[in-house]
Amino acid sequence: MSRRALITGITGQDGSYLAEHLLAQGYEVWGLVRGQANPHVARLRKHIGDVQITTGDLLDQGSLISAVERVRPDEVYNLGAISYVPMSWQQAELTAEVTGMGVLRMLEAIRVVSGISPSRTPGREQIRFYQASSSEMFGMVRETPQNEKTPFHPRSPYGVAKSYGHYITQNYRESYGMFAVSGILFNHESPRRGAEFVTRKVSLGVARIKLGLATELRLGNLDARRDWGFAGDYARAMRLMLAQDAPEDYVIGTGTTQSVRELVEFAFRTAGLNWEDHVVLDDRYTRPAEVDLLCADPKKAREQLGWEPAVAFEELVTMMVRSDLRLLSESARPEDEPFSPDHW
Ligand code: NDP
Ligand code: GDP
Repeated sequence: MSRRALITGITGQDGSYLAEHLLAQGYEVWGLVRGQANPHVARLRKHIGDVQITTGDLLDQGSLISAVERVRPDEVYNLGAISYVPMSWQQAELTAEVTGMGVLRMLEAIRVVSGISPSRTPGREQIRFYQASSSEMFGMVRETPQNEKTPFHPRSPYGVAKSYGHYITQNYRESYGMFAVSGILFNHESPRRGAEFVTRKVSLGVARIKLGLATELRLGNLDARRDWGFAGDYARAMRLMLAQDAPEDYVIGTGTTQSVRELVEFAFRTAGLNWEDHVVLDDRYTRPAEVDLLCADPKKAREQLGWEPAVAFEELVTMMVRSDLRLLSESARPEDEPFSPDHW
């Protein structure tokens, strides 16, 4: 019998890579999709054919219970979230509801459908739960590199909401004995990354400038440092965490760090351009509170999961720039591309 997975956030970057990975591993894959006519489903279907869809919303407890009852998954991957940090200042309460409380609702759905209570603990064949925690929980730099024991000091409503999700997952594991784990993932990118995140904004910007569709790229803080990996590698780590004998949390990252300036310099260079001729600093893209430095210590994942990233930073950036050059040059009317360049 193949294992059955339910993925929230399947229409996002990670959802697509995870669905592909699980299908390749022989899983039956279901995606939880919100809305009556979610436009992102068509994009998902274009990339991945074999996913089955059920409707539901992380804001709606009943819909999550119905989805778990309908799908009867062996594994639930909770990737759904408002995931863009600046948006979390603009819609702080909604971010708390979706990114934070949504985790509680998904755990409750599993608990209720499985009949788990303090006096009735889960059996061996229980539903396993993965929570998409984030390095943004570390926030202000206390120590570097950051591992599973590094204290949290989130710097945005997003980081605060993710911290709640992290702790409630840990609490359900400790309270009810549920197989519930968090992957603390550092930034991971790909040609499918949302256009508002800095890597994709840069790769699209480079492609537009190279093709003569734009002359400048407006950015915020160039000094921030991130540990950037490839999303496809991180999807593998999610499954491995649920395949362990015991539920534990893991940090996933490359263990290297680059500044936004280094990212920009390298991305422009891959297209034969000089970044200083095109990049314009714009205060609109700086944040009320910044996370200056993120760098993972992925030792535990390496030793216990046998997980290693396969794609390094330079290969990732080259892949993204090439992909966007192709995308924009193949598009009959590049200005109709489905991205909003100045989405903030
Ligand atoms: P995306 O922003 O690409 O995808 C977010 C997904 O969440 C979309 O599928 C979206 O669906 C869904 N969603 C939003 N609101 C709701 C809701 N109310 N109910 C159900 N689903 C909803 O994120 P990524 O794929 O990049 O990230 C996946 C997860 O991992 C997120 O939780 C993110 O916070 C976390 N994470 C990501 C990191 C990264 O570097 N990528 C790093 C660390 C953590 P819709 O199509 O309806 O909009
Ligand atoms: P985050 O780490 O999840 O917030 O991922 P982002 O890709 O959104 O941002 C990474 C870093 O790039 C942050 O420190 C931002 O302040 C910085 N940055 C600088 N300019 C920009 C910009 O124009 N857009 C975005 N999204 N980030 C920028």
